[in-house]
Amino acid sequence: MKIALVGIGKIALDQHVPALAASPDWELAATVSRNGAVDGVEAWRDLDAMLEARSDIRVVSLCLPPVPRFDYAMKALQAGRYVMLEKPPGATLSECALLERAAHDLQLGIFATWHSREAAMVAPAKAWLADKTITSGRITWREDVRKWHPGQDWVFEPGGMGVFDPGINALSILTEILPRPVHLRAATLEFPENRQTPIAAHLHLSNGIEADFDWRQEGPQTWSIELETDHGTLALHDGGARLVIDGAVSAAPDATLSGEYPRLYARMAELVRAGQSDMDLSPMVLVADAFTLGRRVTAAPFHF
Ligand code: NAP
Repeated sequence: MKIALVGIGKIALDQHVPALAASPDWELAATVSRNGAVDGVEAWRDLDAMLEARSDIRVVSLCLPPVPRFDYAMKALQAGRYVMLEKPPGATLSECALLERAAHDLQLGIFATWHSREAAMVAPAKAWLADKTITSGRITWREDVRKWHPGQDWVFEPGGMGVFDPGINALSILTEILPRPVHLRAATLEFPENRQTPIAAHLHLSNGIEADFDWRQEGPQTWSIELETDHGTLALHDGGARLVIDGAVSAAPDATLSGEYPRLYARMAELVRAGQSDMDLSPMVLVADAFTLGRRVTAAPFHF
């Protein structure tokens, strides 16, 4: 199937282009980007023009930041295309609900992707937890914003979500593996005094789960979820590439996250063939609740 990639920036080039090139399902037929392009692929600057000219392209994958994404997604749906959304699926829950409704009404499909759910050890973790009760837990998601979002001021603008841009990845895993949903009880959000979104956050979730998100970690990065249950302990490390159950380690063969985007595109192919949507917003609900309930603390100014 032919697909167009929109927003040729960091994640499009790091992950989407290689995943599409290696996929038996997809042909990257066009890009839409004001400044970016992919060697050897037809490049457009304007989405409307591409949609008008390329009726053979059935699917549009949006790699833009969340705030501009809604208008692009709605235009693509209204032009009769299936849509794949980078995470988080939008800037607000209500716009995501509108997109889901539009896809349904137009008899199309939309996919809110959560790449971290595709990490190799997430499915085995979910299977092990299925018959357990969570008694407490700790999420530690600490990374270096300068490494993953070099110079991207949008992450600190309204709708950019700040540290919840990576934190929502942890929440996407948590909401996938838990046998029963959790809810937010309290939160503290640290806003740099010169920015509009938090650089760190601490969440208290039900079932005694604490989450610590911080974007100021230099050196080794930490992406871990540790859960105590009524029948033993489970830890997912390295973003879901390594699983430890009661001290015994299992890891994906190469212990990297390289399978995430290929699996997302395989799932998108299934959805298009079946004419279905997959729009689970539960990670974003927890983030919205943190902004609703969170206590604000001012932190030192942040500059890239
Ligand atoms: P990015 O490089 O800053 O942006 C991607 C592209 O979107 C830009 O190159 C730009 O292309 C286009 N764009 C930016 N602002 C726009 C606007 N206002 N209107 C239209 N187009 C605009 O961001 P990214 O790091 O790739 O992140 C994009 C999405 O992927 C985010 O939702 C992020 O959470 C997710 N993601 C990022 C990472 C990561 O490591 N960075 C990992 C996983 C997921 P043009 O200027 O050429 O139009």
